Amino acid sequence: MSDRSKIAIQKIQSENVQKAVYKALEQINAGEIMKMDQVILLKPNLLGAKPPERAVTTHPEVVKSVIHWVKKYNPKKIYLCDSSGTQKPGATEVAMKESGLKALCDEEGVECIPFEKTERKIYTVKDPLEINEITSSILLEKADIIINLPKIKTHGQCLLTCCIKNMFGTLLLGNKAKTHAKSALIDRFSAALADIYSVSKPHLTVIDGYLCQEGQGPSAGDVVKLDVIIAGYDPVALDTVVCQITGMNPNDVIHLKKAEEKKLGTMNMDNIEILGNSVQDVYRKFKKPKIRPVSAPLPRWLANYLGNLIFRATVKFNPNKCKLCATCWENCPVDAIIPPKEIKKGNIPKWNKKKCITCYCCVELCPHEAVNFKINYVKNVLFSWVGLGFTALLAIISLWFLWIFNFF
Ligand code: SF4
Ligand code: SF4
Repeated sequence: MSDRSKIAIQKIQSENVQKAVYKALEQINAGEIMKMDQVILLKPNLLGAKPPERAVTTHPEVVKSVIHWVKKYNPKKIYLCDSSGTQKPGATEVAMKESGLKALCDEEGVECIPFEKTERKIYTVKDPLEINEITSSILLEKADIIINLPKIKTHGQCLLTCCIKNMFGTLLLGNKAKTHAKSALIDRFSAALADIYSVSKPHLTVIDGYLCQEGQGPSAGDVVKLDVIIAGYDPVALDTVVCQITGMNPNDVIHLKKAEEKKLGTMNMDNIEILGNSVQDVYRKFKKPKIRPVSAPLPRWLANYLGNLIFRATVKFNPNKCKLCATCWENCPVDAIIPPKEIKKGNIPKWNKKKCITCYCCVELCPHEAVNFKINYVKNVLFSWVGLGFTALLAIISLWFLWIFNFF
């Protein structure tokens, strides 16, 4: 069995995060990939401007432990970079500050910089499943070692966000929205995630399972104190193990299947060696998001049509929570949200059902958790052409029966 499928699971005991991180890294012999004078790139999850206790961003204690571990190998330079979920210039800096990671980097002498503030580079995707190139930072190429620092959270669109999904953040601000718009169907978006991961292919992953999110993750979910650190090299195996720990079916996480298809790792538990604690030791069933897109092996046009017909969601804004901050309309990839005529308390943004591609960006990025999705399956079908046609057919058959049996 190769090192790539070795995964270390370490319970965090008595709040000692560093001990768990060090132990997990030792178990997978992570020191073997480290040398003196390397340029290290840390990639946390910096989805939005939320404090560590909301469990939206990678916890500073986990990042601090990894920085201390890296420093033992005398690196030339350590960068901590991400590009936040919102398109607004300056959004990543705000997320870095609110998450506590900027202050941590200042203390530790680590350069904390948004990807969008570094030199850009267009990368070609090898054997693309969905996208041919991605625009990201030159640091993906310049760094000797990339360490992925994802967090365990449920995800309204993808079910799980962890290792593979975290590298979506290497796309620069507006490029994320473009990818959502181009690859709206879950199968296509999942294939795009595998393509994006394949460009940077982190050398090592340390998963923050200290504070996680369940239910309406990745930003409006409930916080779960799972108290676990997981480390390894194979992102598909790591995400598969995270599914086992959180009671999800890995086969429901489409981007795992796409990543395996792209040969980024294995979903086969027989090929994964677990070290440290067992899956059972840290098992905690997570609440799933209320609604999720479904995947079906149908031709793209038919899946698109049926998806739009049956699973079309209605975006609802909560007037009591909405602060008219503009995040949703500035970040909707297809301009399906516009501001109200007057920006005043009690008014809410306007949503255009026809334009919406159900990408969940508005739910994910609303800083005030004021956006909700609702699906009314019966109404969707009844008020579609299929529903109206079916009703008309039923009416004709009934009239025909009445006529045959001489009720007229
Ligand atoms: S719904 Fe959320 S993101 Fe949109 S304007 Fe209101 S508070 Fe901002
Ligand atoms: S309205 Fe929300 S879910 Fe629909 S496309 Fe815009 S951001 Fe995505």
